[in-house]
Amino acid sequence: MGDVNISSLLHAGYAHPTSRAWQSQSRNLTKSMFMYPIFICDEPDAAKELSSMPGQKRWGVNQLEGFLGPLVKKGLGSVILFGVPEKKPKDPVGTLADDPEGPVIQAIKTIKKHFPELYVACDVCLCEYTSHGHCGILHQDGTINNTPSVHRLAQVAVNYARAGADCVAPSDMMDGRVRAIKQALADAGLGGRATLMAYSAKFASGLYGPFRDAVDSAPSFGDRKCYQLPPTARGLARRAIQRDANEGADIVMVKPTLPYLDIVADARQLVPDHPLACYQVSGEFAMIHAGARAGVYELRRMAEESVQSMVRAGATLILSYFTPDFLDWLDEPQ
Ligand SMILES: [Zn+2]
Repeated sequence: MGDVNISSLLHAGYAHPTSRAWQSQSRNLTKSMFMYPIFICDEPDAAKELSSMPGQKRWGVNQLEGFLGPLVKKGLGSVILFGVPEKKPKDPVGTLADDPEGPVIQAIKTIKKHFPELYVACDVCLCEYTSHGHCGILHQDGTINNTPSVHRLAQVAVNYARAGADCVAPSDMMDGRVRAIKQALADAGLGGRATLMAYSAKFASGLYGPFRDAVDSAPSFGDRKCYQLPPTARGLARRAIQRDANEGADIVMVKPTLPYLDIVADARQLVPDHPLACYQVSGEFAMIHAGARAGVYELRRMAEESVQSMVRAGATLILSYFTPDFLDWLDEPQ
């Protein structure tokens, strides 16, 4: 498969019944549109509340069957996993990302054992696993060293897919990582099965605070402004979306969503034939909860209005911490 033409690989985008649903571009809100982000730590029995994200927890693998079982019964179609290693020491290259005993690989296997039909995506990045908290491997001077970063990310993605993940989702924003991961999956014989969902337009946003607390991934120095996109950079976002589609992404993503609905609409127009994901990030979730608590609006109404705006702008798939709520709400129309 060494010389495979990456853009000719289509199977990975519809290998699973859930990913097939995302090809339909429905404008009505459905349960299959929701992907639930969950945090997995390396304490097997953990169920630790996250104070900045109401109702969300850090889960240990032993809790996953009991936690996910009721949601799967209600129609949960997909999850995306974020690993939070708490015990083992982190290093500069993020060795813990694909540690066979680590939280992500163990969670993939556990979920697939109990819920074989649940679509499992894995966030692919290094920041939760590196000692410096950056998303790639660094030069001596602390700047990103792109080539080894991309190589390492591709290795991690292949190991997640080998463990049974249906989808790998690079969120690192390194240059050229989509093509490298797609190629590595093809070389490993996984090119027809593992979806590549690219965080294509990921902005350096003020809305990631609660998430960084949840996964303990704040950079120990500097910031991510040299690889995440500047909030004003519409042109750069459009280029990144087209680049990732050209590099073989099966799904492209815009993140965050609410302040970037114009980018979602741009993406819909630039790559009209790709499923389009958007990530309603931790700060958006916390903001909607905070406003409801302050009596500004009713929680359900605002949560619905927020995701309706995403679908209206062109999203086919929404990563949201409101997923468990929507599994109930979509069964009881207001
Ligand atoms: Zn990262």
